Amino acid sequence: MAEYDYDVLVIGAGPGGYVAAIRAAQLGLKTACAESRETLGGTCLNVGCIPSKAMLHASEYFDAASNGAMADMGIEVSPKLNLDKMHAQRRDAVEGLTKGVAFLFKKNKVDWKNGHATFQDAHTVKVGDETVTAKNIIIATGSSVTPLPGVEVDNDGQVVVDSTGALELASVPKKMVVIGGGVIGLELGSVWRRLGAEVTVVEYLDALLPGMDGDVRKEAGKIFKKQGMELRLSTKVTGCTVKGKTATLTLEPAAGGDSEELEADCVLVSIGRRPNTDGLGLENIGLETNQRGQIEIDHDFRTKVDGVWAIGDVVPGPMLAHKAEDEGIACAENIAGQTGIVNHDLIPGVVYTWPEFAGVGLTQEEAIEKLGDKSKVKVGKFPMMANSRAKTNHEPEGFVKVIAEAETDRVLGVWAIASVAGTMIAQATQAMEFGATSEDIAYTCHAHPTHSEAIKEAAMAVQGKPIHV
Ligand SMILES: Cc1cc2nc3c(=O)[nH]c(=O)nc-3n(C[C@H](O)[C@H](O)[C@H](O)COP(=O)(O)OP(=O)(O)OC[C@H]3O[C@@H](n4cnc5c(N)ncnc54)[C@H](O)[C@@H]3O)c2cc1C
Repeated sequence: MAEYDYDVLVIGAGPGGYVAAIRAAQLGLKTACAESRETLGGTCLNVGCIPSKAMLHASEYFDAASNGAMADMGIEVSPKLNLDKMHAQRRDAVEGLTKGVAFLFKKNKVDWKNGHATFQDAHTVKVGDETVTAKNIIIATGSSVTPLPGVEVDNDGQVVVDSTGALELASVPKKMVVIGGGVIGLELGSVWRRLGAEVTVVEYLDALLPGMDGDVRKEAGKIFKKQGMELRLSTKVTGCTVKGKTATLTLEPAAGGDSEELEADCVLVSIGRRPNTDGLGLENIGLETNQRGQIEIDHDFRTKVDGVWAIGDVVPGPMLAHKAEDEGIACAENIAGQTGIVNHDLIPGVVYTWPEFAGVGLTQEEAIEKLGDKSKVKVGKFPMMANSRAKTNHEPEGFVKVIAEAETDRVLGVWAIASVAGTMIAQATQAMEFGATSEDIAYTCHAHPTHSEAIKEAAMAVQGKPIHV
């Protein structure tokens, strides 16, 4: 008789957990996955990447029809919003994909245990009423919205909402305040602005999109302002009262000073996410979280408790679905005795607004800091305005920026603002994974006319020799 019920039990069926479970099963390990939600796919498929992209995609068409972008191409239309239908297509996308994961579980013989999982000991977990034992347990419990003290979220009330509530608004707010100028706030703020809301973004720092390259952050401010968003940078929200359908926010300069009030009929709190470990019973296995609430792991995704591994949003690193997925694959491979590796230096990040903002590797500021001097870093920039495809498509905004080490020419970072920057960044990531120099990219033939030619030209600009500017 087997010592354990399973070789691997994964806790959480988000992109980290479900991918780890499938990979473990593919490698011949008897695998189960515990998930407390009624559907598989975690934050990403249920209330994150997928539903937000469904709303971004649909609202982008509405915006193009109403803001004159279609008329510029000879298509004259007067769009009428059917918000219920827009929500329905979002729910359809979510349902199709979450059911797809259930199908993949069946196909790969992964047992889904539906219920909240709590450790009893390092090899025993209670899932609902069932006790499950496993030789290896992967914690992939993901993250949840970080609350903002003084601003209470009530998604059902639809006045003060988090990202989950902002996906479900039953009507377009007249005035929306987004607290937090990061990726999620700008994406969901863009959705409702395109559908007709007046949007104000309140950001504590002095620029949007913390973590991205300085030039990109500066340009993002200009682009969103031009689209009609009001930006309140270097400003903090210190309180919120709700009366009926109106919220009144109290704002103060980040550095301190006089407060002021701002009214809105919808407030989106999007100041970040925090790891999910509540009720997981980590105390029963002697595992503590770090100061940020994350579970620390080594290079192989092992925690300090033998047989317990962790991946995804619950461990340090960017909270991104593709990072979680890659960690899921590598962790399962390590459990199976293979060598699973994730290159954490090359996790691309994308903001799926219009245009898209994307980057991989070091920012210019980080590159200078790492190499110790400005002269050790070379930068090539190419404007999308000079890219024939972007120009033809009436998409003049943005640029590509290639950052390379001056001595070796090795590419250290690539940043792009373009309508399809999220797709373009894959080639930069792959080139960097293979250790490319800017010359390697510059001498790689790119199809014409494509937005990707801007990456080639930016690489040529590192040597000071772009053709089209
Ligand atoms: C609005 C929004 C948009 C986003 N857009 C993008 C995007 O475009 N691209 C991108 O890369 N990332 C995006 N993200 C982030 C992305 O969703 C996360 O990085 C990703 O889902 C993390 O995967 P994970 O597997 O670590 O955890 P999660 O997806 O959070 O999944 C964890 C699962 O574990 C379950 N769970 C937790 N505790 C227990 C327990 N004790 N027992 C049983 N089950 C448990 C939870 O119910 C959850 O389903 C977005 C997030 C949000 C909120």
